[in-house]
Amino acid sequence: MARGWIALLLLGIIGCSCASAAPSDFLLQKIGDGVWAAIVNDEGKAGGNVGFVVGDDGVVVIDTFQDPEPAADLLAAIRKITNLPIRFVVNTHYHLDHVNGNDVFAAAGAVIIAHRNARGWIRTENIKMIDPPVTAEKKARVQSIALPNLVYDTSVDLYLGSRRVSVRYYPGHTGGDSVVSVPDAHVVFCGDLLWKDHIPNLIDASTPAWIKTLDAIEADYGESTWVPGHGGIANAADIATFKKYLVDLHATVRDQQSKGRSGDALVQTILPSLKSKYGKWGFFDELAGANISDTAQELAGTKKLPSH
Ligand SMILES: [Zn+2]
Repeated sequence: MARGWIALLLLGIIGCSCASAAPSDFLLQKIGDGVWAAIVNDEGKAGGNVGFVVGDDGVVVIDTFQDPEPAADLLAAIRKITNLPIRFVVNTHYHLDHVNGNDVFAAAGAVIIAHRNARGWIRTENIKMIDPPVTAEKKARVQSIALPNLVYDTSVDLYLGSRRVSVRYYPGHTGGDSVVSVPDAHVVFCGDLLWKDHIPNLIDASTPAWIKTLDAIEADYGESTWVPGHGGIANAADIATFKKYLVDLHATVRDQQSKGRSGDALVQTILPSLKSKYGKWGFFDELAGANISDTAQELAGTKKLPSH
């Protein structure tokens, strides 16, 4: 009994310190010296995971949630940790759940950085990401998101005094994705190139390129703490598990297409086996069927990808 109370008390203390640092839409986790991840609650308003890095003379924020409100909460949480200026924001890709808090950080004076393609797609391709009904008001919101004011093509290094934050382009998820690493802390923010225990969004995906990217980032960064775009802090085994999902899905869809299946019949044939393996993953009900049809279109050569 007494032990139980002590455990509850400890839990309460831990819970309180988290709650005071961040609201329930996300949970702040310190994952290195001056390196933080904000892992979202899927049911909340925040959408996709974000992170921030505190250096000698400023802060880099990686992604900005899918709504200005949790973005403002994040800024407040950062302000409890440091008063250094927010020098840079990196948008890891254009999807709404990673950029819709940009305005909050632009107003705070940050330079927003993204791959060239991501900048081109934020106000246009995101129309398809709006939850229906697509109202004029929601469209106007997307069409006014603060855009990156600095773009790059292959890689760019940011310096916070002596601390280096590296930003590199990798293909596969949208064609405009950045991986942000903090070499001195061995932390890698993958954006939506990595999903942990969550069914990914494949709406813009090029699966073979993505599979190669997962091999490349493991080789390029080595042993690291990995922050996925969705799901909790990851390790090398999680990268392998996610890669296996993409490989399996690609092979299964190709097999069914070779048997002459297409359209809804193909989706319904594959869905039960996918559910038996991955039914516990987040977003299964929302995205698994779309994953099958997106992959089928990709293999059939009919998939419409955002143009550069
Ligand atoms: Zn996302």
